[in-house]
Amino acid sequence: MNADEQKKIMADVEAYCQELRPIEEVCYLEHKFNEAIVSLAKKHNIMGIPVPKELGGRGADSLTYARCLARINQEGTGPRTFFSGQTSIGQFPILKYGSVATKKKYIPASCKGDAILAFGLTEPDAGSNPLEGTTTYRRQGDKLILNGVKYLISNGTIATAVNVFAFPEGATGADRRMSAIVVDTAGASFEKEQLHAKPGMFTSDTGMFQMTEHEVPAENMLGEEGNGFRIAMHTLVSGRLSVASGCLGVIEDCLIEVLRYAKERHQHGKPIGKHQLVQEHIAMIEMARATSDAMIERAAMAKEASELDPKNSEKLKEADFRVAQAKFHASNAAWQASDHAVQVFGGRGWSELYRPFRHLQDCRVCRIYEGTDEIMKMKIATALLGKEYEAFK
Ligand SMILES: Cc1cc2nc3c(=O)[nH]c(=O)nc-3n(C[C@H](O)[C@H](O)[C@H](O)COP(=O)(O)OP(=O)(O)OC[C@H]3O[C@@H](n4cnc5c(N)ncnc54)[C@H](O)[C@@H]3O)c2cc1C
Repeated sequence: MNADEQKKIMADVEAYCQELRPIEEVCYLEHKFNEAIVSLAKKHNIMGIPVPKELGGRGADSLTYARCLARINQEGTGPRTFFSGQTSIGQFPILKYGSVATKKKYIPASCKGDAILAFGLTEPDAGSNPLEGTTTYRRQGDKLILNGVKYLISNGTIATAVNVFAFPEGATGADRRMSAIVVDTAGASFEKEQLHAKPGMFTSDTGMFQMTEHEVPAENMLGEEGNGFRIAMHTLVSGRLSVASGCLGVIEDCLIEVLRYAKERHQHGKPIGKHQLVQEHIAMIEMARATSDAMIERAAMAKEASELDPKNSEKLKEADFRVAQAKFHASNAAWQASDHAVQVFGGRGWSELYRPFRHLQDCRVCRIYEGTDEIMKMKIATALLGKEYEAFK
């Protein structure tokens, strides 16, 4: 993509963010899902930013998409989480592993916003270890029949199709290998429920769903049967980069907010920005921004190199490693930066009416979803120690 196309995408994202802000503000304070996150994304044609143009997307590289997600997350972790669900972990595995027909069926529609996607790996009893999942499928003629529950799924009740990970019914031992299947959500055999008991990210749709003898066409399987774990882990490289990029947006917005507030707010006869201890908070937010930005850029370049050379397992390993570092660092940095910003805002800081506290309560989940802090640390350490030190064996 050329520089003009890049600028146009960023301009569309900027227009989206400006239009979204006042609506997001109201929905956040009312603790309700913000439907404009989706409708405005459709309007500004930003539902397939890194998707190839021939499939209806904008053809952006990994770094440009990361920058777009950072800008979107300035508006909140809720809006950005929609894009992660739709694109980073929704469109990504279909693009990489779907047949030509599956791509044609889901990708152009999802770029237009006519299909909403999600990623269904987690279950009530299978989180950090998805291999403990109990969702099953069986073949029946040219159909796959699914049974099971998926839990804590972003876009879970608005999705028209979900990338579901499931095991062959009745399989044990070496035959118990996970597959990835695109599952249409229409019909009574797919029951969904919104999850509301959340201490933040109110404007994002988090759901659970139950499939009971739910049928999908057999051609909806992604990649080879039994290859689902690999597909999930590859998809999470894309997803984790989206979380890291979003966290950079949290930090950027906190910086914008504290720079303004520290000049406006006066105490002890001067702007609080002239008090050195307030300056320390600002310096710490800027350090969080600069380090996260650098790590995300490096991770995005590694991911892009792997995308351009998909058969090269070393490049994928490098991307996985860099992305895990960026995700761990940026999500912790965002948590700390938003805490510094809350402190600069004083009593007003401890309020949902102001942006720093909203970021603080929203971004905490970024240290949990798409791989917890602990899983990221083990991934980083075992990549350095070698395969025989893998913690999950
Ligand atoms: C708002 C939200 C949105 C989400 N969206 C999605 C989505 O779209 N799709 C999806 O599939 N999932 C989604 N998730 C689920 C999320 O990815 C999981 O919550 C996460 O992977 C952790 O799994 P768990 O909650 O079962 O925790 P557990 O795996 O039970 O972990 C509990 C604790 O034990 C630690 N732990 C577990 N295993 C080990 C180990 N081997 N060594 C050391 N520590 C360990 C964990 O790090 C954690 O601290 C979402 C979650 C939330 C909260």
